[in-house]
Amino acid sequence: MPVATRPAGGPEVATVVIQPTGFCNINCTYCYLPDRNDKHVLPQATVTRLFTELFASGWTAPDLTIIWHAGEPLVVAPGFYREAFETIERLRPPSVVVKHAFQTNGMLIDRDWCALFRDWEVGVGVSVDGPQPLHDAHRKTRSGAGTFDRTIAGIRLLRAENVPFHVISVLSRDSLALPGEMLDFYLSEGIDQICFNVEESEGSHVSALFEGEELRERYEAFLRSFWHAARASGRVRFLREIDLAIPRVFRPEEAPSRNIQTEPLAMLNVDSRGNVSSFSPELLGLRNGEYADFLLGNIHTHSLAQIYDACLRSSMFRDIQQGVEACARSCEYFSVCGGGAPVNKLFETGSFTGTRTSYCTLTQMVPTDLLLNAFDQLEHNLASAAADGGTTPEVQTAGPIAAQLSRVS
Ligand code: SF4
Repeated sequence: MPVATRPAGGPEVATVVIQPTGFCNINCTYCYLPDRNDKHVLPQATVTRLFTELFASGWTAPDLTIIWHAGEPLVVAPGFYREAFETIERLRPPSVVVKHAFQTNGMLIDRDWCALFRDWEVGVGVSVDGPQPLHDAHRKTRSGAGTFDRTIAGIRLLRAENVPFHVISVLSRDSLALPGEMLDFYLSEGIDQICFNVEESEGSHVSALFEGEELRERYEAFLRSFWHAARASGRVRFLREIDLAIPRVFRPEEAPSRNIQTEPLAMLNVDSRGNVSSFSPELLGLRNGEYADFLLGNIHTHSLAQIYDACLRSSMFRDIQQGVEACARSCEYFSVCGGGAPVNKLFETGSFTGTRTSYCTLTQMVPTDLLLNAFDQLEHNLASAAADGGTTPEVQTAGPIAAQLSRVS
């Protein structure tokens, strides 16, 4: 895959991450957000200014995703979003399709929120870490109590109100040993779209998960077991770690591929005061001795062209680009990964110019290996079946995994 991190003629903004407020109503043990006590709310004037500037630039991708995140978005009232969405809709050129998305802890979901989600077809992701003991071990209120009961009440209301949603579960050392219990939990709650995050080292948070020996083997065993059991159940529609990896792993050589975390302004990340950053959205709000606050300007005082120019001239972009080029030279997974997540390189290796991290091992290498091994096994079984005139047991050439992989052969 060619290293293309600077599109000719300007950026192509694929995703806007907006922080409606930095405030979060809970206090997870693995949280890296530095502003989670800051109750400042994004002014509507910033929404107007941002999208007037963005849509006038002509730099948006045909499908633009707007993610309301980087704090708990539901602590700001639904009316705020109705006004903001209407502003964006009024400014939106007909050629651009906008999709709004929220990532929420789910605790504040009520019928008004469900109505907003339905009316605007919002993509809803709820953070839940599995059964109550696993969830409550890390996802805690500010007084230290567990948050499971209110999160699961929010999930049940989404289901009752027919609002589609997915869940993101952060895997801990304990949950990695319990793929069966994790699947039983999702099935018992009717959760059929599942994403896993591994607990990462970002900002001031240092993940205990990354300290252990044999992390790769443990995660690979978890994901293989969960994937096979989920497919066998027939009740999991989407498992992000596998379903999004399939088109990247089996992509034809000539098919285009992007890593928007490494392209300047492909991710446009804006905080509640209008400050703009790019690349990994987690950088917004963090500080570092070499790159200071990772900011490129403020949407109220800089044009998007000035912000783009600042991005191209920044040492941050120079170093991220060097890191991508080093990945392209040295890593056999580059065609799948595209050079990784800058924030994880910085906080795991100490530099954007680094390559391999525990994060990329888990999120890129493990799913790729699982898929390629499963595909090799399927091809081997089919070849054996053809050679022995059909005496190879059917279970080795059929089943849900074979059915999923046969679509890419
Ligand atoms: S898997 Fe890791 S080392 Fe390989 S290209 Fe991705 S970030 Fe770079």
